[in-house]
Parts: sequence; structure tokens; C-alpha cells
Amino acid sequence: MLTLRVQQMTIDGHPYTCPECASEAFTFDGTGFIAALPVRGNCWQSHSWEEPLITLGALKEINAVRTGREKAEDIDTFEITIGGAHIVGILRPEVTVDDIRQVVKRVYWQRIVKPGLRRRKNAVKRAIARPVKRGARNAVAAAQAAALEAAWTAQAGGYEPDPDHTPEPINPCPACKGKGEHRIESRLHDTTRVRCAVCHGTGEID
Ligand SMILES: [Zn+2]
Ligand SMILES: [Zn+2]
Repeated sequence: MLTLRVQQMTIDGHPYTCPECASEAFTFDGTGFIAALPVRGNCWQSHSWEEPLITLGALKEINAVRTGREKAEDIDTFEITIGGAHIVGILRPEVTVDDIRQVVKRVYWQRIVKPGLRRRKNAVKRAIARPVKRGARNAVAAAQAAALEAAWTAQAGGYEPDPDHTPEPINPCPACKGKGEHRIESRLHDTTRVRCAVCHGTGEID
């Protein structure tokens, strides 16, 4: 049994759909081993029809020329001429390893790492805002910031770079315009980069 899950298909430019409900998505199911026998179309609403143009042999040809998918952004398409008819279609995506990897990355970063960083940043801000004996305040804040910095670095070490790093312009840091660093022209070196003290190099403020 060979099943192709069609997402969308045209024959000579005309949309090919379920003859009963015009559903664009359906399966072609080929059974047996006689290449000349037509396959059956089955739509998601349980309509079933025989498609004389697509034989089991043709279904195997489509399966052979389909592009398949390797990466999450790939689309599985096919283009073939059968009995003089030009057939173009898109097959419903099968889940690839890369799909899973993308989902895991997204979930990992958006649900675990980013909220974690944000929580810790907010905790430090609250700690700094808390009244501390005059004079000790700056030292305490500096110590907390340093400890936090170390914690972040340790936490972030070994992780893959954030796959969707570029966006998230939540609140770009006004001091460094979201760059996370300041460039200082100096005579010794061409340019010295100094981590922005306002956002601790993250380029954003909550
Ligand atoms: Zn139907
Ligand atoms: Zn900054």
C-alpha cells in the first residue's frame, strides 16, 4: 500500500479537489501491485473516489520525483506529466528531525531561557531598589550585578545561539541603543568596546 498525502494539486493548472466536497487535501491510496490499476482518492470527510488518471504506477512515479523535506522550511512538492496531463502538487509535510529540533529550540529559548533571564534581571532590580544603608548601596548593587553576571554566563554557557535572536526589540536600552556595548575611540587601540552598564550588555531593558 502506497499513500501520498496531497495538500494541494493542479492538473494542467486547474485545481484538483475532492469531487464531492471540493476539499483540497486528500490522500491517494494505491493498493496491490498492478501498476496499471487506478488509485483511490480519499478526502478527510471520508469521500472516496477512483482516479483513472493516477494509476499505482503513476503514484510510484510521483513518490519518486517528490522533493521531500530535510529542513523545517522545506516544502515537499512534485511535478510530473502523466498521460499528457501536467500535474503539480504539494504533499502534506511529514515531520522531519529538523522540525523537531526547531520546535525544541523555540520552546527551550522562549519558555525556559528567556523568562529565566528576565526573572533574574527583575530580581536584581528589586534587590537594588530595596533600601540599603547609605553608602553600602552601590557596593551591594555592584556585588549583586557581578554575581548575576557570573550566573548568566554560567547558565548561558554551552547553549546554542538563540535561533530567533535578531528580533525581540522589547525595550531597546536607551544608553547603548540596544547594542549592548559602547565603542570608545582610544589612542592605544583603534576602538575599545565596553559593555553597556545600563543593560549589562543585553541591549534591552525590561
Ligand atoms: Zn470530500
Ligand atoms: Zn545598554
